[in-house]
Amino acid sequence: MSIAAIPSQVVAAQPYSIFHVEVARTRRLSPSFLRVTFTGEHLAHFADLGHDQRIKVVLPLPGVDIAEFPDGPDWYQRWRALPDERRHPLRTYTVRAVRQAEREVDVDFVLHGDGGPASRWASAARAGDRVALVGPDARYPGPIAGREWAPPADARRLLLAGDETAVPAISVIAESLSGDVPATILLEVPHREDVLGLRTRPGVEVTWLPRDGAAHGARLVPAVREAAAELARELATAPAAELDDVDVDRELLWEVPDPAAVTSCAGLYAWLAGEAGVVKALRRHLVQEAGVDRRAVAFMGYWRLGRSEPTGA
Ligand SMILES: Cc1cc2nc3c(=O)[nH]c(=O)nc-3n(C[C@H](O)[C@H](O)[C@H](O)COP(=O)(O)OP(=O)(O)OC[C@H]3O[C@@H](n4cnc5c(N)ncnc54)[C@H](O)[C@@H]3O)c2cc1C
Repeated sequence: MSIAAIPSQVVAAQPYSIFHVEVARTRRLSPSFLRVTFTGEHLAHFADLGHDQRIKVVLPLPGVDIAEFPDGPDWYQRWRALPDERRHPLRTYTVRAVRQAEREVDVDFVLHGDGGPASRWASAARAGDRVALVGPDARYPGPIAGREWAPPADARRLLLAGDETAVPAISVIAESLSGDVPATILLEVPHREDVLGLRTRPGVEVTWLPRDGAAHGARLVPAVREAAAELARELATAPAAELDDVDVDRELLWEVPDPAAVTSCAGLYAWLAGEAGVVKALRRHLVQEAGVDRRAVAFMGYWRLGRSEPTGA
């Protein structure tokens, strides 16, 4: 069903709405990936924008009904103002699929143990469990933010690289790639059993890099370096540039080109996401050593080793 076919006279006042949902089913895709399918009547209005669309998952808090999560345009300020014992945890995820007609949304969770509320909740999720999603509302008439994939029209080469937390976003992007621009996709995952199928078009080269016990980035960093060296031989890159240091333990590493001003670097556009320390190393390499123009690359720290997600909207 297309968005236009959804029966609704209501225009949403804000780009993001709170969708109260329950788990319809779960499917274990591999040792580290769990697909959770959410359902809820209002998901008919959940916008299907594709690419790396991010959302917030509002997780249960013992003793506080999820229906108490603040709604309305100022939900974030009201949520922030709540005392700790009444504030549901929020975590950032990617929309893996939207089926408006079936009122369903899929989110692929990386299971990394009991250390965080999202992974802990997902590991035990059962049909009927209730959560809320803060997601894009198809009834909003204006532009909706929350996606960073924005290759410029002159891109002649695409590079996408990430760890397991970026697999959902890269999968959606890869499945929607049109045209014939060659693309290199590098995906580091915890185990060889986590290599998932990826439907894409000819001209897209996908390499899965299982860590199998090695440190985060141990396979991704050399693979990106190698790809960058190959691309540098193919494309004339810029002189290496100086970079400000980002303290990934104190601030978010989130450097994305302004979509209105995004430019390719000698034809290259790159999108990189994953553990912030690893993304920082990739940024240093690409910009300072390989001569890639930072205006041609989205660098995104999706999570930080040893730290919970900072609460941000
Ligand atoms: C835009 C965006 C999109 C994202 N999309 C997805 C997605 O689709 N699927 C997905 O699984 N994740 C995704 N993430 C990453 C996810 O938000 C983090 O992994 C988040 O920290 C998980 O929350 P938690 O409650 O499980 O752990 P937290 O409470 O945040 O952290 C607890 C501990 O677990 C560690 N930790 C967190 N994540 C991981 C991990 N993946 N592996 C190992 N240790 C970890 C932390 O370092 C910390 O020590 C995305 C992040 C962003 C910013």
